[in-house]
Amino acid sequence: MIDELPAFTAASLLRRNLWLIRLRWYAVLGLFAGILGTIFLLPGYHDARTLGAVLLVLILSNIVYLYITRVSRHFTKERLVTLLTNQMTADLFLLSFLIYLTGGIESPLSFFYVFHIIIASIIFPGTRPYIYAGMAVLLYTTLLALELWLIIPHICFYPSIHVAGNIQIIVATWLIFLTTIFASAYLAKSVTDRHRKVRDQLENINRRLQEVNHSKVNFFRISSHEMKSPISTMISTLMVIRDVLGEEVDDRVLDMVDRSLRKGEETIKMLKDLSDLTYGSMQERQEFEQVNLCQIINDIVEDEKANAERKHISLTIRSSEKACQFTGDPQALRKIFLNLISNAVRYSNEDGEIDIEILDNESEVIISVKDNGMGIPLEEQKNIFQEFYRTPDARRSISDGTGLGLPIVQRLVELHQGRIELQSKVDEGSEFTVILPREEQK
Ligand code: ADP
Repeated sequence: MIDELPAFTAASLLRRNLWLIRLRWYAVLGLFAGILGTIFLLPGYHDARTLGAVLLVLILSNIVYLYITRVSRHFTKERLVTLLTNQMTADLFLLSFLIYLTGGIESPLSFFYVFHIIIASIIFPGTRPYIYAGMAVLLYTTLLALELWLIIPHICFYPSIHVAGNIQIIVATWLIFLTTIFASAYLAKSVTDRHRKVRDQLENINRRLQEVNHSKVNFFRISSHEMKSPISTMISTLMVIRDVLGEEVDDRVLDMVDRSLRKGEETIKMLKDLSDLTYGSMQERQEFEQVNLCQIINDIVEDEKANAERKHISLTIRSSEKACQFTGDPQALRKIFLNLISNAVRYSNEDGEIDIEILDNESEVIISVKDNGMGIPLEEQKNIFQEFYRTPDARRSISDGTGLGLPIVQRLVELHQGRIELQSKVDEGSEFTVILPREEQK
């Protein structure tokens, strides 16, 4: 269980060990002060020597734990957990013995069990603190039962049963109360301080990541914009060269000019895709407006018709009137469906069929783009949403493509807090389904 938690590294377990040892030194000081207090305030108490022996055991065991922790820098996680577990269990037995020595049922130290459980909760995740709570209850109950059945003799902590008016008992109890209150405050504060520190660190890291992301997006946008104009100039110059010198130059030169033109156009498309990938990243919140989804998709289908007709592909749209009304970013929605529909056309075979459906339910609009084209192998389906990824089949059959279309689609769908699903089979076709929650559901 501890293995699965990223916070439980060997280094953090080592820190917990050292923290526990430090706490035990405080307990040594507290017990020392307690023994002195007992000697001076409760002269009728006869077991101060045994208390001294417990103090000695505590000091020696803490020195041993410290030594083991110092040499355990290269211990595995499991061994460090075992070290912590052994210490916590031994402490629980020692505390129970102290409670016995200080009067069993009348011992004011019994609420020190609570510290133990708080410490266990700080150190261990999951159900372990409950195991320690169970152990504490079992030990305390056993102690009380043994005293009840006179198997072990009861030790009187308070020499007089007349508590009222007895200043020694009142001061002793008050000191233990004081220790309990301050120790609880210390433990609770150390937990909240640690949480606060971690939260502040996370917030700082998050802020820095956002700044880095912001400058990365800015760099992307500016550089793609700056690169577009010289490449466009080169393309128009090459077009002029081809048109003006087309008749006079060698076919090989013309071929080179054509190839350069194609490469230039691909680069412009890639730059456009790169800037689309950053779309929406610069605003804190996207400005959404009422749009007619069916209209947007109809316009895209009209634009794609020429490409589809070249391959004798039929394009059909089905929609319900209610599904057409949507609140979103019109530019982003256009980019989403342009990418999906143009992919369906590009990756469909001659005489293919593409069906677009725009439906809705109570809370979502569901748009699916289905083709009966080449399909995507199951093992490739997780990759196609990664930037620049193109399946080997797609590379072979369709040369133009950047592998940026679907990452753009996914980002823009997420901008609308929606999701995209894919069902596809090789040689049978693909169906991309975009599910967009309506504004009031967000
Ligand atoms: P591009 O189309 O420019 O290669 P995309 O990101 O749009 O980039 O698509 C990534 C890959 O997903 C494509 O290269 C192709 O392998 C696969 N793909 C996307 N849409 C389809 C589709 N409708 N049918 C088959 N394969 C597809």
